[in-house]
Amino acid sequence: MHRITVIGGGFAGLTAALTAAEAGAKVTVYEAHHTLGGRARTAEGPYRTNEGPHALYSGGPHWAWLRQRDLIGPLAPIPPLEAARLRLRHKGVLRRTPPFAMLKLLRPGVRQAPVDVDFMTWATEQTGEEGARAAAHYSAVALFHHDPGSLSAAFVQERLRRATKLPPEAQYPRGGWASVIDRMASRAWNLGVRMETLARIDTLPTDTPVVVATSLDAARRLLGDDSLTWAGGRTTLVDLAVRTRRGDAFAVSDLDSSGWLERFTAQDRSLAPAGEQLIQGQIPIAPHETKADGIARAEQLLDLAFEGWRGRVTWRREAVANGRTGAVDLPGTSWRDRPAVDRGDGVYLAGDQVAAPGVLSEVSFNSALTAVSLALGRNTLDLKHA
Ligand SMILES: Cc1cc2nc3c(=O)[nH]c(=O)nc-3n(C[C@H](O)[C@H](O)[C@H](O)COP(=O)(O)OP(=O)(O)OC[C@H]3O[C@@H](n4cnc5c(N)ncnc54)[C@H](O)[C@@H]3O)c2cc1C
Repeated sequence: MHRITVIGGGFAGLTAALTAAEAGAKVTVYEAHHTLGGRARTAEGPYRTNEGPHALYSGGPHWAWLRQRDLIGPLAPIPPLEAARLRLRHKGVLRRTPPFAMLKLLRPGVRQAPVDVDFMTWATEQTGEEGARAAAHYSAVALFHHDPGSLSAAFVQERLRRATKLPPEAQYPRGGWASVIDRMASRAWNLGVRMETLARIDTLPTDTPVVVATSLDAARRLLGDDSLTWAGGRTTLVDLAVRTRRGDAFAVSDLDSSGWLERFTAQDRSLAPAGEQLIQGQIPIAPHETKADGIARAEQLLDLAFEGWRGRVTWRREAVANGRTGAVDLPGTSWRDRPAVDRGDGVYLAGDQVAAPGVLSEVSFNSALTAVSLALGRNTLDLKHA
């Protein structure tokens, strides 16, 4: 029987553990935190905020895999009346529809954007500067970068397409991502996976193949390999509970600069106490900007879309996520150029900043499948790489 060690019990680590156990391996997972889930944790308490992911994109490979195993659980669909309350800030005012020039970029006939040119240059050629800028900023909902126009055109186009598809791909597990993580952990338990929490690993084991399913920063330290770096976004996070008021927006996308706010209780009432609404926002900030700059922009959006919100606040929390929102690819690079999964000597990387395709957590998922497949010396796993 194969034995495998997985370091990190987030979405990548649990995917790796389940895949290996299903293939018959004896698996041990070590997780530094006292609970599993990593960034896919949902806070306990009255305000069920997601630390990281909210949207489970139904077009991704993880969707089919989780569904097949009945690991998604009940979903919280957006009521149509709420969906109609999506607003876009453009030229300082709120609109219901995107500028026409931005829509031109979403037509089915638009050709594949190149890898080696920045999105702004490519998109401006297609539709002019105004539409290109609006589209770049809209794509921030799925890439968390202050200047998506400066990234590889192919990278941004893929995220723009996925985030604007109709019907929408974004699905919301009821109760937050913790419900998916709990189901994955239960299945792992049933398959005999040994899971140790509060177990930070400082030295790589040498007696089994190892899947290092930590953040890339933690993997760099663990492997002592300074080459393990890749670009990522830096984002102010604003979580807010407000007393309910009819007519609040469902979500606001900032087309004037990157940013997104969403009232998640619109689709899932279980996330906040009765009579309150939970809003989570992410405002990407440039390297020279501070958390306060991001908060100021979030408050501008709140002023526009949530009338009287300041007097309705019941709870508030702010943070900055630095390099925690997945990889971004600069012009001339694609996922293939990121740190390779196979590090040699039976060590494999999984996570959202390594060489695997997909959007956000799909990279963690795809790399986990690749890592396990390599660790077991098989090519029979269901690897749906783009
Ligand atoms: C604000 C935000 C919003 C996001 N929104 C979305 C979204 O809507 N949709 C989406 O698909 N994705 C989203 N993402 C991305 C998603 O959260 C991540 O891609 C995914 O959760 C990463 O999972 P992972 O297992 O690769 O890494 P992690 O979740 O970081 O897990 C790594 C684990 O390793 C553990 N660890 C680290 N070092 C050690 C060690 N030495 N020993 C033992 N354990 C260790 C950590 O404690 C952690 O539990 C978002 C992320 C953020 C931050």
